[in-house]
Formats: sequence, structure tokens, C-alpha cells
Amino acid sequence: MSDLAATTKQNLLDLDREGLERFFADELGEKRFRAHQVMKWIHHRHVTDFEQMTDLGKALRAKLHERAEVRVPQVQFEKPSADGTHKWLLAMDGSNAVETVYIPDKGRGTLCVSSQVGCGLNCTFCSTATQGFNRNLSTAEIIGQVWVAARHLGNVPHKQRRLTNVVMMGMGEPLMNFDNVVRAMSVMRDDLGYGLANKRVTLSTSGLVPQIDRLAEVSDVSLAVSLHAPNDELRTRLVPLNRKYPIAELMEACVRYAQRKRGESVTFEYTLMKGVNDQPEHARELIRLMRDFDNRLQMKDAAKVNLIPFNPFPGTRYERPDDAAIRRFQKLLNDAGRIAPVRRTRGDDIDAACGQLKGQVMDRTRRQSEFRKRLQQGGAGAVA
Ligand code: SAH
Repeated sequence: MSDLAATTKQNLLDLDREGLERFFADELGEKRFRAHQVMKWIHHRHVTDFEQMTDLGKALRAKLHERAEVRVPQVQFEKPSADGTHKWLLAMDGSNAVETVYIPDKGRGTLCVSSQVGCGLNCTFCSTATQGFNRNLSTAEIIGQVWVAARHLGNVPHKQRRLTNVVMMGMGEPLMNFDNVVRAMSVMRDDLGYGLANKRVTLSTSGLVPQIDRLAEVSDVSLAVSLHAPNDELRTRLVPLNRKYPIAELMEACVRYAQRKRGESVTFEYTLMKGVNDQPEHARELIRLMRDFDNRLQMKDAAKVNLIPFNPFPGTRYERPDDAAIRRFQKLLNDAGRIAPVRRTRGDDIDAACGQLKGQVMDRTRRQSEFRKRLQQGGAGAVA
């Protein structure tokens, strides 16, 4: 098959239910329920070859061959961790790869999904930032991560599932890739897709205020906000985006989000860094901020705090606080009546913990692009 044919075909993974129905009706002249059958083949049974979609007629299968494809990310590399965590490095094209991580925990299985190759926000404590920003992922590349994990896990919706939650907490800022992320999240929640409950799909953002409002209008997913500091001076140092959308504005956007969701809580992520934001005065400031949020919503525990001990990576100037400092910070919050679980570090033996999702990406992508360059110059043999 020539490259041209490959690129002009519609990748069905790029479409959510609505888009797929439209494609079947407008492009193929087929009934909507055909789109539903195909969705089930792709997402429930992990079938990508139209020939194997046996409840479609021969003529339709031929038409699909001609006009469409189901192109999934390629597993470049995968690594299980001793604690059950599983990491994939997925090739999205010749030179870009992202990481996806599965984290099993009592009764649930969470997949951490990436939304961009690299990230442009430059949070000073995040390893993805050191990679810079390459590009947004397409809908197919985002939902493709779920597809790969679900196939590996033998996950079937409506049966005993191993994939119960998705968090958009991998590489990238999901709200900077708004449309593709929203479309992919719609497939995650669709019964014909992965059938996840709204609450079990979480979008994490560093705080893009206008996009939080937009999200409230089009989606019902859970919102997590990377706060990391209780005052603007400190937050701007950690999350430079804070200069544009300072804490007060960000908190107002979160209030509006929660109000629209009629009483859903918002999670505030707080990465603890030694001597930076882990002192008692920070805890007290954070408590006030969270209390104000509850008061605005007139709801106890409207603000949930998630404490994340900093995960170090090569070249960083930050350190993880010792356990006693983490416990002290947590206790101050608890004593003020605020539940604040400390996120256990998972998969750190495979560099899959928060902020470590860079791993071999740079090396591998660099090596690959060099390989391609050599190819173009008429060097090494053909590549698949
Ligand atoms: N850009 C989005 C999505 C990435 S989520 C966001 O910022 O929310 C990744 C989560 O891990 C965020 O809460 C991020 O702040 C946190 N994180 C990043 N680097 C980390 C590190 N080195 N150690 C611990 N947590 C980190």
C-alpha cells in the first residue's frame, strides 16, 4: 500500500460515536447502527481488521477497506513493574513517542494517559517540561493509548473490568489540546467505547481558566487542578502559567466548574517539595484556600487535596521531603478536617511515577530521527 493511500484513509479511531455515525451515513451511505457495530469491534474486542468484523456484509467490509482504517499506536517498548504497574512507550509516528502507564490498586485499575508529545508549560519541577513541546496528539493517538492497555489487560466493558479509571495525567497539558482530548474522553465514557463513568475519567490541568469554563460546558468529567502552592508568589515560581491565571481566578473557575456539575468536588494536586512548599505555613495557607472553596460551594469537602511527594529526575534542583515532613504536612490538613491522601509512589522502578514520564522518549525519538535521516540519505535498509 502506498503512503498516500494510508494517509487519505479515515482513521476510525479519530472519531467518537457521533463522528463515526456521520462518517457511516455521509461518506459510506450506511445506517448508524453499522457505526455502532464497528465501535464495538474496535473498542470491546480490539479488532482492527475489517475482514474479522464478521457481522458486517462483504460489500461494506470492502468499502471500509477502501475508505477507512483502524490505525493504533505501535508498542515500541513495554515494561511491567514489580508492583503491578505497567508502562508502554507508544510510537505515534516516525519520530514521536509517548508513555502510558497502568496502575492497579485495590479493586480498581487506573490508566494514566498522555495528551501531548512533550509539554509547553515549563513547570519547573516536571520532567516532561525539560523535553519541550513537540505536538498535540490526535484523538486516535489519545484513545489509542486506552486501546493498547485494554487489549493487554483483556478488558471488556460490562464484565469484570481491569481498567476502571482514566486520568489525563500523563505527558502534556490536556486543555491545550482541547478538542482531541474531549473527543477521546467521550469514547472513554461511551458504552460502545470503554464505558467508564464520568467520575472515573479525570482531566488534570495546570490551570487554564478559559478552557476550564469551556470544559464545564461540554463534558462531565472529574476535574483535577495542579495547584502545588497556596500563594501566587510561590505558585508562579513552580507553575509559570500562574502569571497569566493567578490563584484567585483559577479558584473562581473551579467554583464555576463544580457548580455546573452540581456538587461534584474538585481535586487539588499538591506536589510536596522539600523546603519549597512543605512548611507548616504553607499547609495553613492551603487550608484557608480550601476552606474558602468549600464555603463558596456551601459544601463540605468540595475541595479534595491530593498530596504527591516529589519524584526526582536527573538534573532537577528539587528534592522529596522526608517522610516525617510529609506526615507533618498531612496531619495539619487532617487536623483542620481536610482529607488529604498522600499518593503512593507507584512504578518508580520503571520511571513511571508522576513527573517522570519522559524516560527513554528523548533518547529513542532522537535515535529514530537519526535513523530516518540516514534512511533518507540512502543509508540503512527499509523500515516497517
Ligand atoms: N499538565 C497537566 C497534566 C499533567 S498531570 C497538569 O499539570 O495537571 C501530572 C501531575 O504530576 C501534575 O499534578 C503534576 O504537577 C505532577 N508532577 C509533575 N512533575 C512531578 C514530579 N516530578 N513529582 C511529582 N509530581 C509531579
